[in-house]
Amino acid sequence: MASMIFSDCSSSTTAHLLPLDRMRTSVFGFRQSVSLHSRVKKFSLSFGTQRKHLSSTVTVAMATVTNANVIDGKSIAKQVRDEITSEISRMKSAINVVPGLAVILVGDRKDSSTYVRNKKKACEAVGINSYEVHLPEDSTESEVLKSILNFNDDPSVHGILVQLPLPSHMNEENVLNAVSIEKDVDGFHPLNIGRLAMRGREPLFVPCTPKGCIELLHRYGVEIKGKRAVVIGRSNIVGMPAALLLQREDATVSIVHSRTKNPDEITRQADIIISAVGQPNMVRGSWIKPGAVIIDVGINPVEDTKNPRGYRLVGDVCYEDACKIAAAVTPVPGGVGPMTIAMLLSNTLISAKRAHNFK
Ligand code: NDP
Repeated sequence: MASMIFSDCSSSTTAHLLPLDRMRTSVFGFRQSVSLHSRVKKFSLSFGTQRKHLSSTVTVAMATVTNANVIDGKSIAKQVRDEITSEISRMKSAINVVPGLAVILVGDRKDSSTYVRNKKKACEAVGINSYEVHLPEDSTESEVLKSILNFNDDPSVHGILVQLPLPSHMNEENVLNAVSIEKDVDGFHPLNIGRLAMRGREPLFVPCTPKGCIELLHRYGVEIKGKRAVVIGRSNIVGMPAALLLQREDATVSIVHSRTKNPDEITRQADIIISAVGQPNMVRGSWIKPGAVIIDVGINPVEDTKNPRGYRLVGDVCYEDACKIAAAVTPVPGGVGPMTIAMLLSNTLISAKRAHNFK
């Protein structure tokens, strides 16, 4: 996660900055907004011919002022978890199999322990059995590999996660490569990524965060085919697989990274933006095409003296600007974050179904 810095949206000078009174209406009014139609001035394209979970259509608006739809990752993630719960109970009744997820944690990092605890809780809530091996910080790489191999051979385990980062004396690549590709529910194995990149090949698992981004677009009925998409960030775990997924869905994809010249100009061409950078409020209003759909993956702590914790979390995208210019945007927190764990559960269920040939 990016180090904590102060970066406030309101300090931006964007072409779309509104007077304060209008900004307040926009910022506080959008949550009630269900339909864009009453708010846009005119429109050109339409996203969302098959929206399943919203009563209205997300319209790509050529509007000067609009209140964006909030893409509610929290509620979509709950829907996904409910679907997983009912599938697991159907599977248990039919073949008496319950999916199992194993997590390997090395060391005592507080953040890693919290992530592992949250994953275990999420497993319990949907009926997935969870297994954990917790090794001390000074364990050897071969001890970690031994735990992985045990889980690879255990038929009650359908997914294996190695909590990152590993202690610096271990080779992360060696460790991740030891996870059986059939149980690689994180989708980080080079074979899975390779298949994701190749036409006509199917990965066994898609990495959870990018899969969550695409799931949000699908469930909000955002049409991807033929649209211009810009992914900001090219990491192995988010940006690169997100770009591959969008391309598989027939979007025309550009990738913006730290060496890209004029990233604002490129991003402004996008109908769909996925940002995974780790820079608070980097994407300003002037980067956003009116009516674009924005998926903000970034999670950045910024100083906030009014908050009892002394900080708050913001995304890569200036949310206030996005609310005025975009057709739809994910909030931070409450957007992509909840989807990541939901997709991990989904991958574990997929793995168990595949192992037992359960349709
Ligand atoms: P990485 O640090 O691995 O990658 C960041 C990417 O952003 C790199 O490709 C880098 O480019 C690019 N970048 C950095 N600075 C700029 C810039 N100024 N302009 C354009 N591109 C830039 O981060 P992750 O992909 O792991 O995570 C990104 C963000 O997503 C973080 O805030 C993280 O906390 C969050 N995250 C959220 C998750 C969730 O569940 N919601 C899950 C995972 C991550 P280059 O390649 O050139 O260095």
